[in-house]
Amino acid sequence: MKTEIDTNFYTETYLGKLGELTLKGGNIRVFEKQLLCNIRLALETVEAKVKLLSGRLYIYCTKNSCGAVEYALDHLIGITGWAKVQAVEKNLEAIKIAVRKEGEVAKSNGAKTFKIEARREDKDFPLNSYEIATEVAGVLFDDGTLDVDVHKPDVSINIEVREKCYVYCSQKKTCRGLPVGVSGKGLLLLSGGIDSPVAGYRMMRRGMKVECVYFHSYPYTSEEAQQKVQDLAKIIAQYGNDTHLNVISFTEVQMKIKQKTPEAYSTLMLRLCMMKAANMLAERINCDCIITGESLGQVASQTIENLAVTESFAEKPLVRPLIGLDKEEIMDTANFIGTYETSILPYEDCCVLFSPKHPVLRATIEEAKKIYDSMEIDFLIQKSFDERQIFRYSMRDVIGEKWSLKENF
Ligand code: ATP
Ligand code: MG
Repeated sequence: MKTEIDTNFYTETYLGKLGELTLKGGNIRVFEKQLLCNIRLALETVEAKVKLLSGRLYIYCTKNSCGAVEYALDHLIGITGWAKVQAVEKNLEAIKIAVRKEGEVAKSNGAKTFKIEARREDKDFPLNSYEIATEVAGVLFDDGTLDVDVHKPDVSINIEVREKCYVYCSQKKTCRGLPVGVSGKGLLLLSGGIDSPVAGYRMMRRGMKVECVYFHSYPYTSEEAQQKVQDLAKIIAQYGNDTHLNVISFTEVQMKIKQKTPEAYSTLMLRLCMMKAANMLAERINCDCIITGESLGQVASQTIENLAVTESFAEKPLVRPLIGLDKEEIMDTANFIGTYETSILPYEDCCVLFSPKHPVLRATIEEAKKIYDSMEIDFLIQKSFDERQIFRYSMRDVIGEKWSLKENF
């Protein structure tokens, strides 16, 4: 079914290139449908129409909506790049005018050389890709606007001849990956640190929907510490359209751990209690796995032995996407996704406040289980779970806050 877009109203056009999902063979429709659904949800309050046609995502919008559309495209997982394009009639004159415009913009941005990348999808168009490129290149170098450099040009000017002709210059790189929603749902243990938001994002990039849980110990941890985690949840929600942040108070649990556990084991016991609560939540909200931001050897609780102990308490697959990354690599991603500045705010986390001077480095599953059982703490975990608070964050709301909404919405 072909739905016509009213281009007098939706005057601006964006084009997104699909990434890895183009490799998905028979399943491709499922992936495409999810991608469309995600971008439509994100833009629900925006004057924009979205279409997917022969491996390209098209967004048509009003001038006022460009900011919101670009923001959504920057966060959309599943495309390798996007560009604002000129959509012109399929004739050489119109193409040349569009190419000239792109060339002048590139020149004013400092470019000296260019290359034409032409692509003819519509085989009825009389010129092939090579002929299009040679025909139109002249409009820029004949009068000295730009020089041709086919090997290392400052800009590539793209021409795609499809149902219309699309002309565009630079393409913005994006998040790539698989559209969120095609790979099940995971429960992310989200702390206020640098790592866990990155871990959530990594799984979203593999198509996983992510829900979050945070354990706090008010008044030992501050309200600001919780606010920081809420802010982080709001940032990562934007890559996956939405997320629920479950906030569980572990104050009583931590007090009990402190009373009943040899000091060296307190951090490990806290991790085990978190895992128990995460099991309950994952079951309740139908998550397929539990995700943490642990990285091998980063701190005492993350030796391979201690990781094995934590894992033995997980009732769903425990996924640790950062396990082999060092801090700098993690920080690079945190910067890219925009969580770093929030993560480094100096509010103490519950683990820090109760951490022992000399934590056990190589616990065994047997001894950890024995200590855990001796605490008789399950009822407290259940209570804290039952009293959890839930917050919801979504891309749609963020866009609604940043840009004014559609009338009557
Ligand atoms: P940092 O960047 O400080 O290492 P972190 O979030 O990785 O932050 P760690 O102490 O290394 O903190 O904790 C390892 C993992 O355990 C975290 O990545 C997170 O998944 C989980 N975790 C730790 N504390 C909490 C908490 N208070 N609430 C929820 N999950 C937590
Ligand atoms: Mg960490």
